[in-house]
Formats: sequence, C-alpha cells, structure tokens
Amino acid sequence: MPVILPARRRFVSRQLPRQRVAKHRGIIRKADPEFDDLHRVADEQFGPITRLLKGITVSQAQARGFISTGTRLAISSMDPMFAAIAAGLKDPLERVATRGARLAVNQATPFFAAEVDLALAFSVANEEASAFATQRAASLVVEMKTEQVKAIRGIISTSLDLGRSPDAIARDIRQVIGLNSRLATAQANFIRGLESQDLAESVVRRRAQKNYDRLLTYRSQLIARTETINAATQGQVRTWNRAVKDGTLPSGMVKVWITAGDRRVDPDCIALDGSTVPITEAFNPDPPLHASCRCALGLIRP
Ligand SMILES: [Zn+2]
Repeated sequence: MPVILPARRRFVSRQLPRQRVAKHRGIIRKADPEFDDLHRVADEQFGPITRLLKGITVSQAQARGFISTGTRLAISSMDPMFAAIAAGLKDPLERVATRGARLAVNQATPFFAAEVDLALAFSVANEEASAFATQRAASLVVEMKTEQVKAIRGIISTSLDLGRSPDAIARDIRQVIGLNSRLATAQANFIRGLESQDLAESVVRRRAQKNYDRLLTYRSQLIARTETINAATQGQVRTWNRAVKDGTLPSGMVKVWITAGDRRVDPDCIALDGSTVPITEAFNPDPPLHASCRCALGLIRP
C-alpha cells in the first residue's frame, strides 16, 4: 500500500543512506548521460526567448499611448508577441520533457510488470511530454504577462510620483519591457542613478540600454535554466504517474531527491538529498526547488 501523506506535510523525511543515493545518481547518469548537460543546452534550446523578449521592445514605439489607455490595454496590445513566445517555447519544452520522460521509462524498466511493452511505454512517455509542453508553454506565458503588467504598473506609478515627464515615462516603460518587476525596479533605479550624475543624455541612454540588455539576457537565461529542469522533471513525473495509473508500475515505489552532488548545490537542496516521497506524491515542490536548481528524481522500490 502506498503511504498516504497528510495534505500539509512538506515531504517524507526518510533519508536514504548516502551510498544508496550515490547508486541512484549513477543510475540516472547511466539511463541518460545527457542529463547533466541539460543546463548547458538550456541557453541554446531557449535562445529564442531572448530574441522574442527583445522583439517586444521594438513593438513599443507607442509607449506614450500606454499611459493614456491604461496598463491593461497596453499589455493586451502585446498579445501577438506573447503568443509568439508561447509558440517558441513549446518545442524546446517538449524536447526537454521528452528527455525526462524517456529517462523515466529507463528508470522504471527494472520495476515494470513482465508483460509491459517497452515500445508502448516510450510512446506513452512521448505523449505525456507533449501534453506537458503544451500546458506549460501556455501557463508560462500567462505568468510572464502577469509579471509584465506588474512591472509596467510599478514603473508608471513610481515615475508619476517622481513627477517625470510623459516622454521620460515612455522611456522608462520601454526600458523594462521583458523584465520582471524586480529587475524592472533595478533598471529604473539604475537609470535614475545615471540621471543624477552630470552626464550627457546620449551617455545616459547608452549605459541604460547596455544595462537593460544585460538584465534581459539574465532573465531569459534564468527562465531557460529553471524551465529546463522543470520540464525534465515533469516529463519523469507524468510518465511515472501514468504508469501507476495504467497498472504497469507498482504503486508502492518511491521517488528519491538527487542533487548534483557538487559544491554548488544549494543548502536547501542538500537537506533534501536522499529524501523520498511515494511515487504519486510530489515533493513540495518537485525539482527545481529554486532558480538554477540542478536536482533530479530517482525511482526506487523501498
Ligand atoms: Zn536543487
């Protein structure tokens, strides 16, 4: 019988002995030697995000209209751009999720019921990966859009409070398109810092633009890294859940948290290393635990 967790319990705290964790890390590597490379390929896989986010900037020539028509309308005028981002995200998400799903089948193979057809298991895994990618591309765009509304609102209200001219506010807005509210605030402060110095306007604009490009690249890399691990994990999780539901995998299996095992692992992730939850339960949350988390899930029979 699977262990049923109380709804609010964070995760099963049972810790596996280190040797056993190391062994399962080995299994992950063997099952998919490319798994460790996911981060390295993230930038390349998700490269289009940077270009698309920059593309939004180009469409913002009418920034002044933003203020008079209100932020919501302004954002809705960006819908085609966000639709393009969603379309651009689906394929890389699906590629990564498929990798996770295939890894999940490899990890589950020793535990499958004898009559399980592996080719069928892989095709089910592909289906799950594709379904995940479609959903995640859509929800990610909604999240990005919500962030964008928040960032622009914040900039407009601060700029109005500071009594900046409509031209200056329009410039402020153009300089935060594509950034989340935290980075948008950082950029606004950077621009004000430049303006408070005795610099030529062209110098202020050039430096502001350079900082903006840097922040935009930083954000798209962050999204790429986090979404890469998320897609890989969700490919695994969905494949296992489906296998339990289809009766091909015993429901008494557990998922084990595996860190990259090097010195860059976050302390919160170290604390989870080797912990387990029942196969159909989620850690809170499953990897990634934080931006740039590199953790993965193993599968064992306790
Ligand atoms: Zn981690």
